[in-house]
Amino acid sequence: MKDQAIPYKIYLEEAEMPKFWYNVRADMKNKPAPLLNPGTHQPMTAEELSGVFCDELVAQELDNETREYPIPQEIRDFYKMYRPSPLVRAYCLEEKLGTPAKIYYKFEGNNTSGSHKLNSAIAQAYYAKKQGLKGVTTETGAGQWGTALSMACSYFGLDCKVYMVKVSYEQKPFRREVMRVYGASVTPSPSDTTDIGRKILAEHPGTGGSLGCAISEAVEVAVSNPGYRYVLGSVLNQVLLHQSVIGLETKAALDKYGITPDIIIGCAGGGSNLGGLIAPFMGEKLRGEKNYRIIAVEPASCPSFTRGVYAYDFCDTGMVCPLAKMYTLGSDFIPAPNHAGGLRYHGMSPVLSQLYDDGYMEATSVPQTSVFEAAETFARVEGILPAPESSHAIRVAIDEALKCKETGEAKTIVFGLTGTGYFDLVAYEKFHDGKMDDYIPTDAELASYAAKLPKV
Ligand SMILES: *Cc1c(COP(=O)(O)O)cnc(C)c1O
Repeated sequence: MKDQAIPYKIYLEEAEMPKFWYNVRADMKNKPAPLLNPGTHQPMTAEELSGVFCDELVAQELDNETREYPIPQEIRDFYKMYRPSPLVRAYCLEEKLGTPAKIYYKFEGNNTSGSHKLNSAIAQAYYAKKQGLKGVTTETGAGQWGTALSMACSYFGLDCKVYMVKVSYEQKPFRREVMRVYGASVTPSPSDTTDIGRKILAEHPGTGGSLGCAISEAVEVAVSNPGYRYVLGSVLNQVLLHQSVIGLETKAALDKYGITPDIIIGCAGGGSNLGGLIAPFMGEKLRGEKNYRIIAVEPASCPSFTRGVYAYDFCDTGMVCPLAKMYTLGSDFIPAPNHAGGLRYHGMSPVLSQLYDDGYMEATSVPQTSVFEAAETFARVEGILPAPESSHAIRVAIDEALKCKETGEAKTIVFGLTGTGYFDLVAYEKFHDGKMDDYIPTDAELASYAAKLPKV
């Protein structure tokens, strides 16, 4: 039943938009472990990192103390083109489920890139421009990050070189074309344009590539071309910092109506949307002011939190990137070929890994057919065609709402709807045609990857 006091969509005025990003590390007692040099196993210095990343982003990456970072005016102006994003009360979903729970979702798909990734892309492009760089390189898997970065680079007049995992490059020609509209060059990875790409092609001819491999290529191109740096769309501390805009807006919108969530749910690939959504709520939890249940949802076929190990690991296949301490399945891990739902990175944000290890949040994994079922239920009542990644959060939000139906509790559930699924219709097609199954890796398989973790 509709709660007359709460509108379907809670918008903020432009003047109410966040002026600061919030750095949750400032409130963590146990800070995330530092990145290590892959050769010496010593913490990476700012100087070492600045060969790969832009200077200001290095400073943000290493800063565990500053609580608030003012969002530069240029970035706030860009945010105004597609933010604030709506916080939607899912009245129709509640009714469909017959639950007393109150469900809200923060929708980040209202921009051309179709996901939350633009929030960090524009920040990273801004700092690259400010440093006087010519351009940036990156990898993209499904293509959302590459698209977001292309948009951000064209806005600031930067060159953008994207290494796109070859299977996606072939399966998602439209994504590639959107990037080219924004002036990016898109190369399928592994490619013969880099040493590491040539090496991987020689060892695995015909491979469809992986994120870890595309990262290695993009880093190689950045460090070997003057005026270029590498940028990454998830996992890193700086990305979670930029994505805190999601959580800050969510909290401001809820506060406007005096709403306090009981449960906050987000899908977790590398952890950036979840880290951003929960940031201010986690801050309250860390400071002992409030308590929330926070749930990370990952695919059963790529279960880094729920079945991975908390250890130092490589971020890429070529082992050129720093080592990060995180929940990981091992840098060689690649989800089964029939896995269609995204969230396929082998590791997890070091910030979220530490928070999870310290018991501040929970994690759960869900099989992909149940994710697509939830996606369809949602699309049919709420109208939005969700990205498969986002649908992991929908799955668990629905499950929690159904539990409320059994117990009669009217809990308030907030989840992150990270993006739209227009470029994922091949995955939806598999689901509709009954060609999708729920392959779950065995313990023995996972152990074989974990055995190859670097000894630190
Ligand atoms: C990239 C992406 C994700 C997963 O990345 P995180 O860094 O874990 O947030 C989730 N949803 C969408 C739509 C994405 O594009």
